[in-house]
Amino acid sequence: NFNEKNLVVTDWERKNLNEKITFGKHTTLSLTEQRKSLPVYKMRSELIDAIKQNQFLIIVGETGSGKTTQITQYLYESNFTKNGIIGCTQPRRVAAVSVAKRVSEEVGCKLGEKVGYTIRFEDHTSSQTKIKYMTDGMLQREALIDPLMSKYSVIMLDEAHERTVATDVLFALLKDAGQKRPDLKIIVTSATLDSKKFSEYFLNCPVINIPGKTFPVEVLYSQSPQMDYIEAALDTVMEIHINEEPGDILVFLTGQEEIDSCCEILYQKVKTLGDAIGELIILPVYSALPSEVQSKIFEPTPKGKRKVVFATNIAETSITIDGIFYVIDPGYSKVNTFNPRVGMEQLIVTPISQAQANQRKGRAGRTGPGKCYRLYTESAFFNEMLPTTIPEIQRQNLSNTILMLKAMGINDLLNFGFMDPPPRNSMVRALEELYHLESLDQDGNITQLGLKMSQFPMDPKLSRSLLTSVSNNCSQEMIIIMSMLTVQNIFYRPKGKQQEADLKKSKFHHPYGDHLTLLNVYNQWEIAGCSEQFCTVNFLHQRHLRRAKDVKKQLETIFKNLKLPLIKCYGDPDLIRKTLVAGFFMNAAKRDSEVGYKTISSNTEVGIHPSSSLFGREYEYVIYHSLVLTSREYMSQVTSIEPNWLLEASPHFYKPTDENSHSRKKAKIVPLYDRFAKDQNSWRLSSIRQTRER
Ligand code: ADP
Ligand code: MG
Repeated sequence: NFNEKNLVVTDWERKNLNEKITFGKHTTLSLTEQRKSLPVYKMRSELIDAIKQNQFLIIVGETGSGKTTQITQYLYESNFTKNGIIGCTQPRRVAAVSVAKRVSEEVGCKLGEKVGYTIRFEDHTSSQTKIKYMTDGMLQREALIDPLMSKYSVIMLDEAHERTVATDVLFALLKDAGQKRPDLKIIVTSATLDSKKFSEYFLNCPVINIPGKTFPVEVLYSQSPQMDYIEAALDTVMEIHINEEPGDILVFLTGQEEIDSCCEILYQKVKTLGDAIGELIILPVYSALPSEVQSKIFEPTPKGKRKVVFATNIAETSITIDGIFYVIDPGYSKVNTFNPRVGMEQLIVTPISQAQANQRKGRAGRTGPGKCYRLYTESAFFNEMLPTTIPEIQRQNLSNTILMLKAMGINDLLNFGFMDPPPRNSMVRALEELYHLESLDQDGNITQLGLKMSQFPMDPKLSRSLLTSVSNNCSQEMIIIMSMLTVQNIFYRPKGKQQEADLKKSKFHHPYGDHLTLLNVYNQWEIAGCSEQFCTVNFLHQRHLRRAKDVKKQLETIFKNLKLPLIKCYGDPDLIRKTLVAGFFMNAAKRDSEVGYKTISSNTEVGIHPSSSLFGREYEYVIYHSLVLTSREYMSQVTSIEPNWLLEASPHFYKPTDENSHSRKKAKIVPLYDRFAKDQNSWRLSSIRQTRER
């Protein structure tokens, strides 16, 4: 009963994809045949039996063996959906979407019917849905409402080796739910072999290994450290393309900008060489890419051509591209890391671990013997790289997670059953931040405000501003601003037209800063009927604006559910800025005639990012959305404010230096950090004591 949709595969691919079949110029490999050819297929009945006999099960298998797309279908075909649906989590949004699309094709239904997906601000499921893919963050949110996961019969925590915060939290929540609900099945899948630890954690449950079919991969190291890994990567691509046998190339880079610029540079290079070399198909892969473009990477490469894919570490394990024979690994990835100097987390380019490097290497050996070019030395691999990646929970800001756990009534955070507990100081820091935002009280208990904040799937600073907008009568504007902050950069600066684009952008600029500028753009786009032409003319990303519109709709639904009113202030800039300060008072900076700006809470030297509408302007006090680290620390999304707003927003975080000052506007503001440090100790102790006692 499968949809026998046939895919056209050319001679050359067929040889590599499926060596058994050889006839004609074009041949077809049906989806069913493709399904049957996956390593996991041979294990089908063994897997089903093991799941029937055990409540917890660990499944380990090479990337591409069929875990994500097949196991859910096996469960569905074996009637596991009689008393509940099958849920499968993914650490990445793109993976959840792409896998759900693929599986709906294999099942032969429309996406959102039997097979659906849910990611933040996007729900493509229905009452018919039996197999539901979702981000781990979304399932964690569901636990808030239904800790027993009562609508699921089986939950598969996929890609567990990625160890995202949400997956780590789900480990503990599902272990608990499972013990309370003997009929709930929990499967943990991983691409790497740290299964012993997983098994011990889940009450010594069995581990099933899926033997993969992999080919040897030759590793080539750099002789000396590379100064510029981008240049080295591009040179290596050209070298392979000109000298090596047919086969596609996969290059691991750290982020969207890097990938886009590499694609552009390589495209120009290949163009100038013209017919002197074979045709090279250049493709980018990263999370923010529209899915139409993304599905291109799965299309087989036409005969006589070669494909080169520039990808983030999403291609390490989350998605599998067939036909890759060459992997180029510069050895870096972008990691969300807490920066103690500035007191917040930032995306920082960091060396990968040996485990990640080996995972990357493995991508070259799926279709035949491959080659992996490591753009670092052998000694760096053995002596400088960590054996495994540090779990996210050990290095990330936990305020959102902790607020959610508190909202679930889990107060005893120190004894919460984490597989690897976060460091105590990062928990305390998160507790402090939540306390300053008034979502926790002195004793670390969740407040009414905190409970409401926990309903919003976003950083507590944003949800705090949203809730303050209700009493400040500007919730409609604030919802738009928060939606715009949630999506990717909406301004588009094509090469060669940057000045023109900047000029268009400056027409939207609000003299008080970026938040009001974003509001401006959104409103004008809406007045223009949300038209594509408006975006083209003004160098705006239509897709990102559309997403902001979706987010806005979702936020409005949450408002409705919480019975909060939607009120317009008709763009009153002071009201809007004060409301922003209510959430972002901790991210404030003061002008410093010598260095530009200094953050008030940590005295870090920062500048206004050149893309900001406040760049080149001089305001005494500003707040910022985030700090980006390039050649120096830059504030991104900056808005000017009055200092007394900081005092009003958080009288326990700031105080004026000159208590007698009559003009509050002139009063210098310092953080109460010093004084607080003493009290803080007692607060710290009491909150930790609290968490311990409960
Ligand atoms: P695993 O989870 O074990 O890494 P998957 O189930 O994700 O494996 O993938 C199994 C196979 O399905 C892969 O070899 C890949 O080629 C194919 N596949 C997965 N997603 C897609 C897609 N969106 N389009 C085409 N093929 C896909
Ligand atoms: Mg998978």
